[in-house]
Amino acid sequence: MIATGRWQTYVDGVGALRPALANIHKLSDSPQPPRPAPSLPVSEQIRARLKQAKRRFHANDNISEFIEPGELDGLLAEVETKLKGVLQSLVIDTSSDHNTQETARRVAKMYLTEVFRGRYVAPPPVTEFPNAERLNELMIVGPITVRSACSHHFCPIIGRLWVGLMPNEHSNLIGLSKYSRLAEWIMSRPQIQEEAITQMADLLMKKVSPDGLAVVMEADHFCMHWRGVKDSETRMINSVMRGSFLKDPALRREFLSLINLKNRG
Ligand SMILES: [Zn+2]
Repeated sequence: MIATGRWQTYVDGVGALRPALANIHKLSDSPQPPRPAPSLPVSEQIRARLKQAKRRFHANDNISEFIEPGELDGLLAEVETKLKGVLQSLVIDTSSDHNTQETARRVAKMYLTEVFRGRYVAPPPVTEFPNAERLNELMIVGPITVRSACSHHFCPIIGRLWVGLMPNEHSNLIGLSKYSRLAEWIMSRPQIQEEAITQMADLLMKKVSPDGLAVVMEADHFCMHWRGVKDSETRMINSVMRGSFLKDPALRREFLSLINLKNRG
């Protein structure tokens, strides 16, 4: 998508050149038209659209609807420039240090196209099938590996996620691999584990409409290992229970004991 945007700009640029050259004599004779105001940075244009639509744009919100084709290219250039400023303020000589010459570009690209991609792209396509067999037994998907970064420090969060579903005859079923795709879309944003798991549960409730839903996430937070208390043992586990998992303690126990088995295996 990014490459297409760049190519488009280039082609338009060449196309625009010809009429300009043809009119060059006329232009010098007539008074100069007023110059258009320099256009706003891409991030400000996107921010203006979000504000106009009164939409939240926190670190873990997806803003893809407000980004026009080709604009991710502009964002990439903008983030690169700002990161160059950060390296400068860290007093790193990026002009003679061959290791950091391209760091601003690399980090900008990593943020926009990899680790925070889930903010900027539309949700992955998921086909839902009607529950034709009227399955109504506990289904468990996991462990799904999840990778994210904490909103507080932008340090990695690496962990595992389990989903328990209790379908009913009105539920939709989705392919197994889609659970990973949806989790990746939610997690590749700066996140807070408690909010990530709620976003995942809301999305699955909407897609699957089960009778009950359980989501458990266990994750290592590198802002605890690498800095701060430097505790390498601490993991955070949290869970969200909805519908029949909330009401039925036996179902909840069954789910938790089954994922414990998987955990040890
Ligand atoms: Zn943190």
